[in-house]
Amino acid sequence: MIRKKGLFIFVLVAMPALLFAQQINIDRVEPPFWWTGFSNPDVQLVVYGKDISNSRVSVNYPGVRMKQVIMVENPNYLFIDLEIGEDAQPGVVPITFREGRRTKVHEYRLHERQLSPNRQQGFDSSDLIYLVMPDRFANGDPSNDNIPGMLEQTDRSEPYGRHGGDLRGIINNLDYIQDLGMTAVWLNPVFENDMPPDYSVGAGFYHGYAATDMYKVDRRFGSNEEFLELVTSAQDRGMKVIMDMIHNHVGTHHWFIKDMPTSDWVHDQSKYGNTNYRTSTIMDPYASEADLNSTVKGWFVDEMPDLDQRNELLANYLIYNTIWWIEYSGIDGIRMDTHPYPYQDYMARWTRMVLEEFPYFNIVGEAWMPNVPTTAWWQYQSILSGDYDSYLPSVTDFPLFYALGQAFNEEPGWDTGLTRIYYVLSQDFLYTDPYLNVIFVDNHDLTRYATSVGEDPAKFKMGLALLYTTRGIPQIYYGTEIMMTGGGIDPNKRKDFPGGWAEDPINAFTPEGREALNEEWGRPVTGVYEFVRNLSHWRNGKEVIHTGYLTHFVPVDNVYVYFRWNEDETVMVLINGQEEEQTVETGRFSERMQGFARGREVISGAEIGDLTALRIPGRTAFIIELE
Ligand code: CA
Repeated sequence: MIRKKGLFIFVLVAMPALLFAQQINIDRVEPPFWWTGFSNPDVQLVVYGKDISNSRVSVNYPGVRMKQVIMVENPNYLFIDLEIGEDAQPGVVPITFREGRRTKVHEYRLHERQLSPNRQQGFDSSDLIYLVMPDRFANGDPSNDNIPGMLEQTDRSEPYGRHGGDLRGIINNLDYIQDLGMTAVWLNPVFENDMPPDYSVGAGFYHGYAATDMYKVDRRFGSNEEFLELVTSAQDRGMKVIMDMIHNHVGTHHWFIKDMPTSDWVHDQSKYGNTNYRTSTIMDPYASEADLNSTVKGWFVDEMPDLDQRNELLANYLIYNTIWWIEYSGIDGIRMDTHPYPYQDYMARWTRMVLEEFPYFNIVGEAWMPNVPTTAWWQYQSILSGDYDSYLPSVTDFPLFYALGQAFNEEPGWDTGLTRIYYVLSQDFLYTDPYLNVIFVDNHDLTRYATSVGEDPAKFKMGLALLYTTRGIPQIYYGTEIMMTGGGIDPNKRKDFPGGWAEDPINAFTPEGREALNEEWGRPVTGVYEFVRNLSHWRNGKEVIHTGYLTHFVPVDNVYVYFRWNEDETVMVLINGQEEEQTVETGRFSERMQGFARGREVISGAEIGDLTALRIPGRTAFIIELE
């Protein structure tokens, strides 16, 4: 009796406050909107709000059926499966939440899909990809450098800190990127990364790989609308945009990590520790379960919880997030970070569902593997992966990258020097389609190529000439065109592009600025820039380099000779890795040279009247259009 009385008093006093305070509370509905007209009619919404699972949900809209509502152990979540029928029209779908006498209607918008041949085009070997780290390229909008309430402000003096680069800076320099001959831009991740940095241990999140909200562009980079503007501006000028995504992990401050829907949303770090980064365990026939668990279930770093994509709700969340971004922004491709680290079945499902919805789209998986078989294993329909099909069109060609880093820096021998490259390419029979490999001499995680080759412009140019003329899709890291250097700790590989900030003394976006850098850096910046620009424009118009056959010859005296050819054209490439000039007798190459009498060397523009013997200076590449 006494207890009942107590409760009665409590209710009397508290009721009026509760009536106001306890409205049905919805903080998030994700995806925030959707479309009619997808081939997959299903979409799963995540509704997040205090005790939202107490609500009963109903949907009343022609053509839209609510298939089920899923409750999980955390009462702050509801998952709603909707089926958008073929007859459903764009409009506002009222989703009604009822708890007792309280009602809340959430207006969920269905848009019409924006179908245009400019959008979601994919990318292939006719492209040149320019990789930009948004925080480090150009600060086009200083007003977003410091956002009140976010956990990190801009500090250019701190190597691990944010430097203020943003989407506006990229939009402002699309002219520069296009003039350089690049046809696609790949941005390191632009999702919100509202993480507290700890510079003392080298934990900065300017790189973008610790998402805290995967439906929002980080406000220090701009807004979703500015991302859309960037993609549209690029596509209007015939360029493409590739978005970086990460499904292996998020940041510790991700909103769903702070209040996890289920206990199996992420792997238990106390059980699996951090990953061993040995993705070879995935295909290693002798791998122990402990090692494989460490690879897949271990955390990438302490600040990045490792997602457990075996949880169907999480898997759906990630898949619909991807489809949302592609349809919303129109992007042409995705670079998937740490592709081998999540569950491979999940990655295959994600890839298949994305490509089913966007058939011209392309995805490159970051498969950072040490050799050709373990890289080729990840490409679609691989002969190496047994019953497993990854569906993944493109892989990152780390084996070729390693060879390009070593070939010019070592004594040539039986399998060293340029023969190293020959051997890597001779293993292409392992790939389903090596022409779809993304090839590179460096990226945001790697020592810049100029530093790898000891800041030697001759070696640098040979490496780039090879990259531009062999098979695959070349990717150029921002600043390569001005021979930026850097290695060691990550921030050194991600220095600010000179001139990207109004206060920079030298602006390398201009000819005068590059001229000034010649002296400032003691490197032939203008020469390298012209080399990259000329070769880029030449390559863009050369179908034979995009899709032509490749025939190469065993290197002799560290001279590597190969041909790109088709019915209409033949291009001969000679790379002399030796210090000394060499005369190359071309009789050995007659199978590819028959019918050709003359040629034009592309880099120098020199006409070559006699092809029987070619004098090639030391440490030089010749690219000859045969006539
Ligand atoms: Ca800024």
